[in-house]
Amino acid sequence: MRKDYIRDQRSRHGRKVLAVLPIQYPKELLTAMDVVAVEVWGPPGVPRGPGAGRLQAYVCAVARNAVAFVQAGGAQDVDGFLYPHPCDSIQGLATLIPDFGGADKPALHYLNPKGGPRPSSQRYLVAELRDLVDKIGGLFGEPLAPGRLEWAIGLHREIDGLRLRLLEDRRADLPDRALYGLLRRGEWLWPEDHLAELKEAAAGLDEAGAGAAKPKGVPLLVTGIVPEPVTIFDRLSDMGAYVAADDYAAVGRRVVRKPLVVKDDPMETLAWLMFAHPPCPSRAVSLAERLDHLSRLVHRSGAAGVVIHTVKFCEPELFDVAGIKEHFGAAGLPVLFLESELEGELGGQTVTRLEAFVEMVAQRRKS
Ligand code: SF4
Repeated sequence: MRKDYIRDQRSRHGRKVLAVLPIQYPKELLTAMDVVAVEVWGPPGVPRGPGAGRLQAYVCAVARNAVAFVQAGGAQDVDGFLYPHPCDSIQGLATLIPDFGGADKPALHYLNPKGGPRPSSQRYLVAELRDLVDKIGGLFGEPLAPGRLEWAIGLHREIDGLRLRLLEDRRADLPDRALYGLLRRGEWLWPEDHLAELKEAAAGLDEAGAGAAKPKGVPLLVTGIVPEPVTIFDRLSDMGAYVAADDYAAVGRRVVRKPLVVKDDPMETLAWLMFAHPPCPSRAVSLAERLDHLSRLVHRSGAAGVVIHTVKFCEPELFDVAGIKEHFGAAGLPVLFLESELEGELGGQTVTRLEAFVEMVAQRRKS
């Protein structure tokens, strides 16, 4: 379905398509330049293939699966690749993917500044965004048209508002599996199509009204990289738990919660937005800031436990694990640390650990 959609975007709408590696990138800019972003988070469960087998064993499965996916021809229909720089693994793929074959396409780069906004990093970011505009314009022969960036920023703010509402106003009739299926379609749909689907879901909530049933069971905060395999939501539901608060890098960590600050220059507005994203260790945001954000999520959602669900060998995420455990441990909130290999199904041992954790949290809530 995704392939048909991409082909349709190119043939019927005349849009260009970039395969985008994780995590954070200026999607507004791509939308403004009529470029469809199709994100590549692994994907899970792809056969490894020879290219992936040549990566070191300690490279994460998101990067390894991306190599296997591309080498198997999974990205044949795109016009190029965009490599943000969340970590050395993705940065390395920018040269390895062309070297290993299967992706004879142009490669663009985008480097988010590390740390919080400072005058120097703000200046750097605006220059980096302008550079990306020039590169996309040079590649596809279409410069950024006047007014388009302001339009795209407004469109994505509307999308963010609805995504936030769906994440925070949880309802029983939109269970985790369905909610995440909807939100993750935003990783490849043209934003206006994604917005239409979000509006439809939000209208369903409006229709049900404030009295609609809330999800039942043990509320959890889940933080990590990407909600894969999707069956994790089925298992959680079977165990009597649900995601009350989300801090996945692929989902909630890319929803800007602050009111937009509009600058005279739309490129500066976009730079402000990039800094306004929730804290992520891939941008070297301080642990204190991240803990503060996670604590607010717990407080707002009433989460009774924290699951750190990350990808094995993810260096940026590992930086913060000890601090998160210590912080919530001291606050009396149980924390479970799970690492996945981005397999197509949750392993038996992982299910057992999750089950024991949910049961323990449920017991504590009763006592
Ligand atoms: S999972 Fe971690 S190490 Fe792997 S690509 Fe994502 S940020 Fe980088």
